[in-house]
Amino acid sequence: MSAADAADDDLADLQFFEIPHMRRLTAEQNAGAACVWCAAALAPGAGVDLGEGMGWRPHSCGRCYPLRVAVVRTFRNLHAHWTSCTPCEGAARVGDRLCAEATTRQAAHLRARKAADKETPTCFSCRNPITERESQAGTFAPHVWTAPNSSTPYRTFVHTGVCLWNETVL
Ligand SMILES: [Zn+2]
Ligand SMILES: [Zn+2]
Ligand SMILES: [Zn+2]
Repeated sequence: MSAADAADDDLADLQFFEIPHMRRLTAEQNAGAACVWCAAALAPGAGVDLGEGMGWRPHSCGRCYPLRVAVVRTFRNLHAHWTSCTPCEGAARVGDRLCAEATTRQAAHLRARKAADKETPTCFSCRNPITERESQAGTFAPHVWTAPNSSTPYRTFVHTGVCLWNETVL
């Protein structure tokens, strides 16, 4: 994948998963005069353009942008591994930790979330937060979910073992 393709993926992911809905942003944020994440004021023409449409002009400050890009990239890395790794699938079914490569990618994603001040991930199945102990044990998996009658996916997580069975997300 070229750097340009990766940048396109980053922008699409940021728009889908990271930029708050315009109804939750201030007028300044919707107009590109303040960062959509930290609300820092942006001079006209300053900040990173996050794409615009129908009068919406979301922008990011220079501090938040790389932090949020790291969040979406590390999730993509983790999910790409998860959907193609047979040992991970077997481990997840019995509630074991995912393979070494997966746990490395999980840790990178959790670090990126923390750096971006994002909330603790929650299990999509049981709705409990993924605990620090579970984070370290690597006993959770990424889960991309799209509601019926919707085209908007959500990036979530699910505990391995029982929670995974309940959702039958494999
Ligand atoms: Zn910011
Ligand atoms: Zn694996
Ligand atoms: Zn759970």
